[in-house]
Amino acid sequence: MKQELFDFLKTDLQFVKGVGPVVAARFEDVLGGRRVLDFLLHRPSGVRRRDITDNVADVTPGDIVTVRLNVQSHKVGGKFRGRRAPSQVVCTDMGGNRVVIQFFNVNFLDYWLKKLPIGEYRVVSGKLERSPRGNWIINHPEFIETVDGADKIPAVQAIYPAGEGLTQKTFAAVRDQVFRALDERVGLNDADDQTREFFDALRHVHFPTDPADLAPHAQYMVKLAYYELLAHQSAIAITRRERRDARHRRPHRAHKYDLMDRFYQILPFELTGAQQRTIDDIRADMARDVPMMRLVQGDVGSGKTMVAMAAAVAMAETGAQTVLMAPTDTLAQQHYAKLAPMCAQMGLVCDILTGRDKGGARREKLVSLRSGRTRLAIGTHALFSDDVAYKDLGLVIVDEQHRFGVSQREAMRAKGTNPDLLALSATPIPRTLSMTIYGDMDVSVINEKPAGRLPIKTTKLPLSRIDALVGRVAAQIDAGAKVFWVTPLVAETAESDMTAAQARFDDLKKFWPNIGLVHGQMDKKQRDAVMAEFADDNSDMPLLVATTVIEVGIDVPRATIIVIENAERFGLAALHQLRGRVGRGALQSYCVLLHGNYLGEDGMRRLDVLCETDDGFVIAEQDLMMRGTGELLGTRQSGWVQYHFVDYREHRDLFKLASRAAMEMNGPTQFILDLMFIFDRRLAVGA
Ligand code: ADP
Ligand code: MG
Repeated sequence: MKQELFDFLKTDLQFVKGVGPVVAARFEDVLGGRRVLDFLLHRPSGVRRRDITDNVADVTPGDIVTVRLNVQSHKVGGKFRGRRAPSQVVCTDMGGNRVVIQFFNVNFLDYWLKKLPIGEYRVVSGKLERSPRGNWIINHPEFIETVDGADKIPAVQAIYPAGEGLTQKTFAAVRDQVFRALDERVGLNDADDQTREFFDALRHVHFPTDPADLAPHAQYMVKLAYYELLAHQSAIAITRRERRDARHRRPHRAHKYDLMDRFYQILPFELTGAQQRTIDDIRADMARDVPMMRLVQGDVGSGKTMVAMAAAVAMAETGAQTVLMAPTDTLAQQHYAKLAPMCAQMGLVCDILTGRDKGGARREKLVSLRSGRTRLAIGTHALFSDDVAYKDLGLVIVDEQHRFGVSQREAMRAKGTNPDLLALSATPIPRTLSMTIYGDMDVSVINEKPAGRLPIKTTKLPLSRIDALVGRVAAQIDAGAKVFWVTPLVAETAESDMTAAQARFDDLKKFWPNIGLVHGQMDKKQRDAVMAEFADDNSDMPLLVATTVIEVGIDVPRATIIVIENAERFGLAALHQLRGRVGRGALQSYCVLLHGNYLGEDGMRRLDVLCETDDGFVIAEQDLMMRGTGELLGTRQSGWVQYHFVDYREHRDLFKLASRAAMEMNGPTQFILDLMFIFDRRLAVGA
């Protein structure tokens, strides 16, 4: 790949015309990165046609309608008797039907009303709904144009899985800019054939004209899926080869201190058999001359942190350092709060380093790391900032492994001499896939929960019964429980996620004044602060309303209830993850799956799986079996290896093909190396 193209792919989205730092940060939340490349890998999940109709009665409620309307009257909403009433614009269509356009966010009212002047015609496009009384309603239309300007409404629109604060229009605008640059500026035209073919496939997927273009077996989808798998399988093959190479040998570390016995003495509980077996696996790895590359798969709450601690202690017996990297500040703080006192009892220096550390205090921490004095460093990405150096980094532990990009993992490894790597993951993947996905790693499974853990009681409940639920929750809160209340990501409309969370927050605040709210549009610091207050055992914040931003792995022992709204919109694995926020202490915990009132048979069956089993492996298998193609929502949280184009269920034959091609490969071609960069599959030890 030409340098120019390579640089373009790495460009920060904030430098794309019309984006800027704020929107780029929102993209980062959705894409998991903020480079042009991250955008290109985020494909549309659907296609929407917006052909203009004259009569809303021709359109099925629930579908998108694009219709010419004559504006009749405005009715300003507001708060009436404590209830929020929407503002309404009453219109008629050409068939004489009365169509009401509603706006819930009264702040922008002037703006909307100006776009819909009384007596005039406008072409409006949005989701058509029918009220129980038979009224036609469009809430927050996506397009309002004059009749002359109706061609601004795209007849065919790619629909991207969006997130908080991003609209489909923004996605389309960025896409257009990016592909224009690829065509005109960044040297794609004189790239080699394979590279051009690859970007051509990307273009087809980003500009679909028909839903069939995005089906898993559509020509370009298969192509991209294959490239993606090839990148991954090649990385695995290379890593395997390199691990056998003498240059990548694990340095021999002499045993200097006895700490393990002391560790077992101060352990606050008996380890489970599975925890102990995993620790044995790790210690056996540490006795070999290839660096450890072990993945610990343990269901949520199976006690992976203590296994990590044992590994750190084993490493400290040689005098070498360990780094424990968590995906968020909050999680890092939690690990530190738990592990630092144990370290103190063993005479081990433990420290925490996150993005919050600044100035002199930070410099002191860095000196201690560089001198080797700090033996266990807990933190976030900050642990591998450029200016952080280690005296002898022996072990890198990555918690909730899937949240880290492979290249970040590599940067961390680069700070030591072939350090051991231990990855902890709470998301089981089906055994049938484990080899193709983690073929370069050894796997330990913690398939046992600490004794005395009660299974979480999971029930499903239609949204219409929410009042009864609030009553039940109230009783539990009176008894000292803490409650997570999760509101879903609404795939398309940007504001609605936040609005949904905010509305639920306002509702519930009437019952408990001191509840918290976190959502993706909040400033990160503020979000962390609320989260920390909720997690604090001594705080009197009984309930936290959250969009799915609530963190994987956060440990709030007093939290015994989690309510998940519109549970049918989440993937099974994601629901299981969320459910794992409770049931982490000795108390009985509950998970309530609130679902829409009209849940189809499939939806019912999916939720039943959750109600019936607590076993992450079983759920993962079921998830794989049921995983639909359009079901992108929640996959980011599902924790499986994040593929952009590969569909686990539909592309199983491609797994085999790619794996064979990678094994037979004699040293990677430049194109394969490019693919590995593109898909961030640079697992190789020294590469
Ligand atoms: P996860 O595997 O999800 O990271 P944690 O390591 O956070 O789980 O452990 C969950 C809770 O269980 C913690 O409060 C931890 O102290 C506790 N725990 C871990 N191992 C045991 C054990 N063997 N017996 C009792 N409690 C344990
Ligand atoms: Mg954990």
